Amino acid sequence: MKLVHTVAELRDEVTAAKAQGLTIGLVPTMGALHEGHASLIAAANKENDFVVVSVFVNPTQFGPNEDLDAYPRTLEADCKLAEKMGANVVFAPSPKEMYPSTDDTWVEVTGDITKVLCGRTRPIHFRGVTTVVTKLFNLAQPDRAYFGQKDAQQVEVLKRMVKDLFFPLQLRVMPIIREADGLAKSSRNTYLSQEEHTAALVLSRSLKAAKAMYKAGERDAAKITAAVTADIAKEPMSNIDYVEIYALPGLEPVSNPMVGSNLLAVAVKFGTTRLIDNVVLEEK
Ligand code: AMP
Repeated sequence: MKLVHTVAELRDEVTAAKAQGLTIGLVPTMGALHEGHASLIAAANKENDFVVVSVFVNPTQFGPNEDLDAYPRTLEADCKLAEKMGANVVFAPSPKEMYPSTDDTWVEVTGDITKVLCGRTRPIHFRGVTTVVTKLFNLAQPDRAYFGQKDAQQVEVLKRMVKDLFFPLQLRVMPIIREADGLAKSSRNTYLSQEEHTAALVLSRSLKAAKAMYKAGERDAAKITAAVTADIAKEPMSNIDYVEIYALPGLEPVSNPMVGSNLLAVAVKFGTTRLIDNVVLEEK
């Protein structure tokens, strides 16, 4: 496996792979890799001949009071895990390499899809994500790009971008990988104290209970969100940002009664750490 830091080096790797007729899988990450990321790399390895993993803490998707500086950076360990899971190249550029101009060029998905849920408290976040992912698509020229259902709104936004900008690639979405205790794996879990970690288990517990309500026939979205909100609010360390349901695809307003596929998504702070989790409610 090769570690490269520059656009020119990545382009050389991609050109050589394409010249051999290899298919390319791209896994964009911000590093501090865990088993969630590993599952994406493994899937990319299974479905493509050549796998590029990007490790880049993208400054443009962080708001002014967010954790850009504190975000964990563990490149050496990331390379080991990426190699173990079958990556051919790790691309770890500097911010200057990814944003060479003093004025910025943005790729932005507008509309409610980027304004609801995380978009409400993180107004520039998705513009940063779509811009950096566009750059990575143009550099790696993947046949398939891999993202986690953990960031369900990100997936919806990227699907819209791929469709609207005619990116010639397949967007592959992988299931949420959880700790044995149910907590969704996240690079930000390292910020949690033991008490906060234990408190945060209420997220997966309440989403599981919501799924059971849905399975038992409940189709009133307001009743489901009220039950989840009450469950989470009982946990004294929790500070709820949102508990909401939107229709899939595209995060349209949910109908009453709910029909088709719907996303129940939560964002909750434990101490200073903001965690997200979700479950898809659908008949299956
Ligand atoms: P991040 O490094 O947090 O930007 O995540 C990089 C990719 O890994 C994104 O597509 C995430 O959705 C995905 N990812 C993060 N955590 C998980 C998880 N627990 N299970 C599956 N995918 C994940």
